[in-house]
Amino acid sequence: MKLEGRCAEGLSESVETCVTRDRATMLYAHARAGIFASALVSTLLVLTVAPSGGRHRFMLWLAAMQVVQAVRLLDLLLWHRRPRRTFNGPRRIVRFSVGAMASAAVWAAFPVLFFHLLPQGARMAALVTFSAMASGSATVLAPSLTLAISYAVTLIVPASLVMLTSPGQEDMLLGTLSILYCVVLVVSSRIAHQSSVGALRLGRENERLVLHTDMQRRQTEATNQELGTAKQALAESNQLLETRVQQRTAELANEVLMREQYAEALARLASTDPLTGLCNRTTFTERLARLLAVAEQAKVQVAVLFLDLDNFKQINDVRGHATGDQVLQAVAGVLGKEVTTGAEIARWGGDEFLVAVHVADCEAAADIAQHLRDALAEPLEIGIDTVRVEATIGVALFPKDATTQDELIRAADVAMYEAKREGKGRVKLFDPALASDMAERFALEQGLRHALARQELSLAFQPIVAARTGRTYAFEALLRWRHPDRGMVSPMDFIPIAEQTGQIHEISCWVLREACTQAAGWPDATIAVTVNISVAHVLTGTLIADVEAALAASGLAPYRLQLEITESMFLGDHVRAAPVFEALRARGIRILLDDFGTGYSSLAYLGRLPVDVIKIDRSFVINAERDGYATIEAILSLARALGMEVTAEGVETKVQRDTLRKRGVTRFQGYLFSRPIPAAEVEAWLRRDDPGADAQTPAARTLVPTGTRTQFEARTPVEA
Ligand code: C2E
Ligand code: MG
Ligand code: MG
Repeated sequence: MKLEGRCAEGLSESVETCVTRDRATMLYAHARAGIFASALVSTLLVLTVAPSGGRHRFMLWLAAMQVVQAVRLLDLLLWHRRPRRTFNGPRRIVRFSVGAMASAAVWAAFPVLFFHLLPQGARMAALVTFSAMASGSATVLAPSLTLAISYAVTLIVPASLVMLTSPGQEDMLLGTLSILYCVVLVVSSRIAHQSSVGALRLGRENERLVLHTDMQRRQTEATNQELGTAKQALAESNQLLETRVQQRTAELANEVLMREQYAEALARLASTDPLTGLCNRTTFTERLARLLAVAEQAKVQVAVLFLDLDNFKQINDVRGHATGDQVLQAVAGVLGKEVTTGAEIARWGGDEFLVAVHVADCEAAADIAQHLRDALAEPLEIGIDTVRVEATIGVALFPKDATTQDELIRAADVAMYEAKREGKGRVKLFDPALASDMAERFALEQGLRHALARQELSLAFQPIVAARTGRTYAFEALLRWRHPDRGMVSPMDFIPIAEQTGQIHEISCWVLREACTQAAGWPDATIAVTVNISVAHVLTGTLIADVEAALAASGLAPYRLQLEITESMFLGDHVRAAPVFEALRARGIRILLDDFGTGYSSLAYLGRLPVDVIKIDRSFVINAERDGYATIEAILSLARALGMEVTAEGVETKVQRDTLRKRGVTRFQGYLFSRPIPAAEVEAWLRRDDPGADAQTPAARTLVPTGTRTQFEARTPVEA
């Protein structure tokens, strides 16, 4: 028998539900045999036992039996068209049982209706038939215990009772036997029922187990499949990651390479002079230190050659800066070619070059210098031009002339200056007699580094008076340095050092700010202050901004500030200074041409300079007394023509004053009127300022003979 009612989902229904359905299925599976058996047996019974008289009553019974079987057959046909899986098991059992019990009832009617009409043999045959039918039903109807028992009891008991109530002893015996048989049938039906239902249950449970296992297998398969997919995804993402890592590694390697190149380029930039590609100052100094260390161990000497091009300024002025740059590059090329390997070459600044090389003695060093000088004197091919340069070379030797790299460079520098003094285009070895100058200079250089921070710098103010009234018109701010060991140091000595070491900008800015601040506090707001500005400051390119900052910080009106510059400001390279002073003049600041006559200026181009006042140098004033006033008169008439005012510096005597006044000098500055006075005394000075031309100021009364500027400054009482 094929089990039905299997759910697609398998485990959604209980085992009992399925077993009930199986029981119904089993009942219907055997129904056909039962129906046919009932129909056939009943027909044969009637045909064999029915007496010829009264047969029609038997036929009626048979008809009833056939109708019942026909109905059961119809039910069986309908059963086959039921829904396979979802039919209601208990209801079907009931429906089947109704048909079977109807059949049993018809069978039960037979003994009640006909036994008394039949002879004993026929009765016995009928009873046996009933028992056989009942015993057949015990297995066929086993799926429903109630039905199986009811069927057997219904079939046997009425016949047995009829037999028991019959008069014959045989009938009674048969009736009793039948009853007993019925009991046996009941018991065997029970056993058959239990075994068949047990088998069904076992089948269902097995099926469930199989389903369950199947589900688990499928789940495992699905999980495995998911696992496979996940594995594949993992492998793909691993691959992707690996590719990315490779890409990133390549990128990083590239970045590192670029950084290294960048760092290298930066290091190159930081260590070389961009124009010539030679070492810059820092690198040269470092390498020189290494050369000295090696020389010390190898017991050899190191020569430092300080080269300065003599005619570079003219080349720049005449042929332009581009050619100037090419000349510097060509000079670097010549040096590189002519100097032995192992030597260090640097561009020290402007047109200055340094060479450091190991040498056996000073003759060898002089030979190298001579050779370089000659090589540089060869014509240089610059584009289509030929340019000749001349070099002055100073030579210093380690350890003879100096023991540190800084001293060695300075010694070579000193030797070069000495060479220049003696005449350009020379080679000069450092003279130990110059060593003390050098030490002096070095000490000043060191001291100057801290002078501002230690507040050793101050300003003195020297009045500039109106020639006609003698009244103070302005003060010149003059820088003072009180060295802790050396006392007062003249600006003539330390300003050039500040210019060379690059400290001039910081110092000059301080002077500007301090002078403006002092002037802003003076009681007379018409008095101007003049400040000396060095070329080096102008070349930094920040003068306008620095002046504006000083004015803003002090609150001084621009017309009260005047700047003193020298003619060198407008020479060669410095020609770009002119627009700066034009711009300052446009702001109301007056420009004074200081030390006029000592420079290279010719009177001819004075008119083109952006200046308002000429300050005739002290040397002219002194010389005039001796040599006459022709030069001063020429200057005065030119100044008048150009609309410029003239101040005479260094006026020490009344004779000088009177003569100059008569010739048209409008302002005086000099010891006759006052020495430079400390800032704190300016106010008192202004209060007792006497318009009388013959006023005897304390300074005038303590007038001391003119010495050199340096000696003078060291002895100036007001500054002590
Ligand atoms: P300078 O600008 O020509 O200043 C005039 C110099 O002559 C001052 O010397 C002053 O003391 C001196 N002097 C004035 N009257 C007489 C006189 O009747 N007889 C004599 N024998 N000398 C007189 P000082 O102060 O030593 O300044 C020297 C130079 O230093 C100045 O010359 C100026 O070129 C420079 N200097 C001074 N202060 C500064 C500054 O703040 N910045 C810059 N860049 N240079 C300055
Ligand atoms: Mg001056
Ligand atoms: Mg001067």
